[in-house]
Parts: sequence; structure tokens; C-alpha cells
Amino acid sequence: MEEGGAALVVFSSTGEQAPLEWYFAPGMPPALRAWLQEEAQENTLQRIFQQGVLAANPKAACRDHQGETFYLGDDAPTQSIVVLPVASQGYRLGLLVVCPTRGESAFPCAVLSNLQALANHIALPVFVRSLRTEKGHLQAQLAQVERLKDEFIAITSHELRTPLGLVLGHATFLREMLREEAYQEHVQVIIQSALRIKEIIETATQADNYQSGSARLRNRIVNLNLLVETPCAARQENAAESGISLHFDLPPQTISLQGDAEKIRIILNNLLENALTFTNRGGRVLVRLSRRGDYAQIAVQDTGIGIPAQDLENIFERFYQVESHMTRHHGGMGLGLSVARDLAALHGGRIEVESREGAGSTFRLYLPLSASTRTTET
Ligand code: ADP
Repeated sequence: MEEGGAALVVFSSTGEQAPLEWYFAPGMPPALRAWLQEEAQENTLQRIFQQGVLAANPKAACRDHQGETFYLGDDAPTQSIVVLPVASQGYRLGLLVVCPTRGESAFPCAVLSNLQALANHIALPVFVRSLRTEKGHLQAQLAQVERLKDEFIAITSHELRTPLGLVLGHATFLREMLREEAYQEHVQVIIQSALRIKEIIETATQADNYQSGSARLRNRIVNLNLLVETPCAARQENAAESGISLHFDLPPQTISLQGDAEKIRIILNNLLENALTFTNRGGRVLVRLSRRGDYAQIAVQDTGIGIPAQDLENIFERFYQVESHMTRHHGGMGLGLSVARDLAALHGGRIEVESREGAGSTFRLYLPLSASTRTTET
């Protein structure tokens, strides 16, 4: 005697791929299950899903439920089948497949109505589940893209280093050989440009190391007063030439901590460079060092263009830039803040940002004053 069964088939929202998930009613005969899954009935289920129609065999023929015929084929372990769309909030989610035990001559309206009510009833929990499943798929895809991006950077940097070394070596040799001034200028341009490319490659590779946590800290006692004063004082003149007043404010007592001075300097430089870059003529940049509980705080405040609220959570992502690379006036690779964040985390610290579009931004770097304050989350 023929046995019946029921299944719920969940598709991705686009319905472009094979079903995401299958749920079978308890006691579903294995032959029926295998037949349904066989290439999801050679894409018939997918087609029905995309059309969002009801399909049945024998044909559903009542006024409310006119639909397609589901062709069963010779090897089908069932004589009757109804396939109903499962949808919620206007999204198609999947199909409810029911194979009754006895073949009917045509499905009565009452049966179809009950089945459609059942499909509607299960739609919401299916919606939530399928969102979760799709989120998982998208996260996996995103992780794969991130991996490819990292690999691309690593391979390109590696491959570029050798020819770049040759360009630099030969250009330096030419500079020694060609003493005439007319040639010197050209060779110098080649060398400067090659050095710039080298710097870009180093930044990209370092950013990779910092993010993967493979960078090591060379911890020493760091005098933060000095570390803040030096780059600020060095930039004051240039800033003034661009019409920006750059100030720094240091506490009377020196603040020191155990850390990697070189890496803290990179963080500060990146924040300071951004503040100066994104502040227009007539603006002001203030760098302030202070103690905040167990942390030293370096605040870099500017009266520049500010950052739109919707971009704030992304600016620390690698390669993220508020203005598209094609339209923006400033250089940069969108790596400065991600490097700064990773280096702060390596020290057990963090960076916070506050900004208002058109009014300016404040980036606050917090570094633990004692090693015991450090967390190992990084
Ligand atoms: P980039 O090298 O391109 O400046 P960053 O990672 O340092 O990259 O910064 C990412 C983006 O965040 C910048 O492109 C800019 O749009 C925005 N940004 C960073 N700092 C500031 C600031 N002080 N004022 C306004 N926008 C900023």
C-alpha cells in the first residue's frame, strides 16, 4: 500500500540555488524522501518556488486554488502531490509538499484551504529560521572574501618587492653615474616614486600583520608627554602654512607606561594626519594628553569636516573611506584607522570616536597605564 508524507523545503530568498534546508514529517517513507530530493525533482520544486504558485497532481481544480500540474513521472512513489508556497511579509520562503496516502481524482477545495492555512501558519517561524540560515551563509561568504582580499594583498606585496628593489637599485646606480643635472632630476623622480610605492606596500603588509595579531610589541617605558609633543611640534609650522592652528596640551606631570613607543607613535601619527587632512583652512586641531583612571588618554580633536553618522561604525574597517576613492581630494588607502585600532588593541587599549558632520571629530586613544590593566582579548 502506498504511504504518504509531508516535507517543508526552504529556499534562499532569490531561489537561485538548490534548497537551503529540508524538513520531513516523522514517518516519511525513505523512498518518497529520496524521490523528492532527487535533484529536488529535477528543478521542478525550484521552478514552482520561483513562480510562487500552487502545483498538484491530480490537478487542483477549484475556484480558489487553480494551479499548475505537478508531473509525477513513472518512477514516482506517490500518485498524489500538492505543493504550496510558504510566504511571509511578502517574501517567498519555501514550499510545503504533501503527498496524501490515497490518490484523489481532484483535490477538494476544503483540503487545499486547510493545507494553505497550515502553510501560512508555519511561515513566520520558517521566515526567522531562513533569515538565520541565510545570515550564516552570507557570513561565510564574507569571511571567504576577506580571506581572498588578505591573500591578494600578501601575494601582490610579495611579488612587487623584487622588481621594485631592482628599480630602486638601478635608479640609484644611474644617479651615481649620470652626474648632469638634466638627468638627475628624472632619476630623482623615479627614486621618489619607487620609494612611495615601497611605503604603500609596507603599510599594506603591516596592516595585515597587525590585524592577524602576528605583530610583536617591543615593550619599554614610554614617556607619553614626549611622544605627543614631538610630532605635534614638528607639524605646527606646516599646519600653519595650511591655515590650521595645531596645539597640544600636556599634563604637568609626565605620564609613562609600558608599551611599544614606535607603534604608539604610528597610532598618534595616523590620528594627527587625519585631523590635519580633514580640517579646512581656518580650522583648529588640539591634541591633549591626560590620565583617565587606569588609562592614559590621548585625544585628537579637530574642527574639520566631521564624519557622517552612518559611516562612523565602518571607518575602522580596512580600506574604508567615507568618500569614494574616485571622488575624494585626499590621498590615503583607508588603512590608517584600522592600523591604529589594531595597534591600540595590541596594547590592551582602544580608540573611541565622536564626530558631527560639518563640526569636527574627536578621536580618543586609551592605553592602560599598568600591564595588569591589559586584557588578552586582542
Ligand atoms: P585614510 O588613509 O584614507 O585617511 P583612514 O583609515 O585613516 O584612511 O580613515 C578612514 C576614513 O575615515 C577617511 O578616509 C575619512 O573619510 C575618515 N576620517 C578619518 N579621520 C577623520 C577626521 N579626523 N575627520 C573626518 N574624517 C575622517
